[in-house]
Amino acid sequence: MIKYTGKGVYGAVAIGRVSVFKRQTASILKLRITDPEAEKGRVASAKEKATEQLQAVYEKALAEVGEDEAAIFEVHMMMLEDEDFNDAINDMIDSELVNAEYAVASARDTFAAQFSAMEDSYFQARAADIKDISNRLLNCLADNSGGGSELAGDKMVVCSDDLAPSETVSLDKSKVLAFATSYGSSNSHTAILARNMNIPAVIGLGKEFLEEITDGQQICVDGFTGEVFVDPDEETLERLTKKRDEDIEKKSRLKELIGQDNVTIDGKRINVFCNIGGPKDIPLVNENDGGGIGLFRSEFLYLENTDFPSEEQQFEAYKNVLESMKGKKVIIRTLDIGADKKVDYFNLDDEENPAMGIRAIRICLTRPEIFKTQLRALFRASVFGDLGIMFPMITSESEISEIMGFCDIIKAELDTQGIPYADNIELGIMIETPAAAVISDKLAPMVDFFSVGTNDLTQYTLACDRQNPKIERFVDTHHEAVLRLIETAAKAAHDNGKWIGICGELGADTTLTERFLKMGIDELSVSPPAVLKVRDKVRSIDLSK
Ligand code: PEP
Ligand code: MG
Repeated sequence: MIKYTGKGVYGAVAIGRVSVFKRQTASILKLRITDPEAEKGRVASAKEKATEQLQAVYEKALAEVGEDEAAIFEVHMMMLEDEDFNDAINDMIDSELVNAEYAVASARDTFAAQFSAMEDSYFQARAADIKDISNRLLNCLADNSGGGSELAGDKMVVCSDDLAPSETVSLDKSKVLAFATSYGSSNSHTAILARNMNIPAVIGLGKEFLEEITDGQQICVDGFTGEVFVDPDEETLERLTKKRDEDIEKKSRLKELIGQDNVTIDGKRINVFCNIGGPKDIPLVNENDGGGIGLFRSEFLYLENTDFPSEEQQFEAYKNVLESMKGKKVIIRTLDIGADKKVDYFNLDDEENPAMGIRAIRICLTRPEIFKTQLRALFRASVFGDLGIMFPMITSESEISEIMGFCDIIKAELDTQGIPYADNIELGIMIETPAAAVISDKLAPMVDFFSVGTNDLTQYTLACDRQNPKIERFVDTHHEAVLRLIETAAKAAHDNGKWIGICGELGADTTLTERFLKMGIDELSVSPPAVLKVRDKVRSIDLSK
């Protein structure tokens, strides 16, 4: 038996046989050509063919895994049209008189290297997309169909270096038991798609993993622990079979909780809401019976755009979510750009410590035109549902006063223009800096609610950069300091008659649910697939004991 350890990105267990993903990689020869126009023509026809294929993959993905996951293939079609990418290929053919295949492969390597070198993990993950569209072009140039690997017979554990999105979706999922990859990140498409396809996946198993395994070997993938066992011994096989069966049973039992209340044995009702990135996530919220939206990360509207989203564009997105939630609570967080979430068109200066620099509310308060546009869109959308607005990265009373001043300006503007807005919008703040937690007694009277951002609260309290994988062993997610800060904020909220929720990742950690409820936490906002797990936990707790 050989054990490999990586990172589990979807908690489930699979036991099956290895299928090493076979990619059609023709070796690229550098050839000297005499007719650049003809060569560029070959690129153009290959591009046309690749676009047709992508359209087909897009439609397949749309039908099988939903709009959210399918969107990447639209992005691929756009990337294929990218002027810089096309110019790089055509210029090389013209200037160096090389064959189309060589020019495409060179552009692929250059652009992928540029993405990989970026600091932001989102953009780093885009290197896989560039490779994917380039390899598709190369396949079309070689006149073969491109993408996909044939999986014969039984369900298999697909093992690869990393899978490109089109490769993941092209696979016949009825034959895939799990994914195990040498590389990849939590942001990679293998990870994202696996979660939504309910397939266990472990990434980052290291280069030797792929070098050492062969087709047909027995393999156990534990997506909970990130462990992978090749040719498992009897004891391991028995242990993981038991774990797998228990997990399957537990998950099917959870579905029975759809429609049930989030109420403790002694009758305390808790709101279990969902974290979303935009309107595309609403079907997942409904599927998992989310009771509302506790965190709409509005910065995704900015991240997906190539320029500032207009007031109208934002209004439509907020209205869409409010209407889809049919009167259930929707808390939209104002933009949290900066630190790990970088957007070129904001033209933010490079900073030594961006997590402690101009980010989130600090951008809004220093660039009011951006803030006012978002607030106008939010206030206008408020008449379409039950809206709460929440402000990130708060550290002081003066910031809240300034924010409330902006809200008053927007309301006065809308009044003058005769534009309606709801009169019951809740205005709250995130408790995600130690400062906010420590002075929460002063902040609570100024707002309607608190929502604890445990991801940042942990980072700032433990002085551990959340983006740095090297310090993982110093990050105690259950650190007493963080828990006491949450408790302080909970007490301050309740002393002032306000409610408090948790919207960071810790909200879904069911080993802490009882402690949170004992502190008086009123709401837990979690990723949609975690709703039923949290509901189950809440229903098992007796606070009177
Ligand atoms: C948090 O910090 O816990 C949080 C919910 O916000 P984000 O992860 O978007 O920073
Ligand atoms: Mg945060």
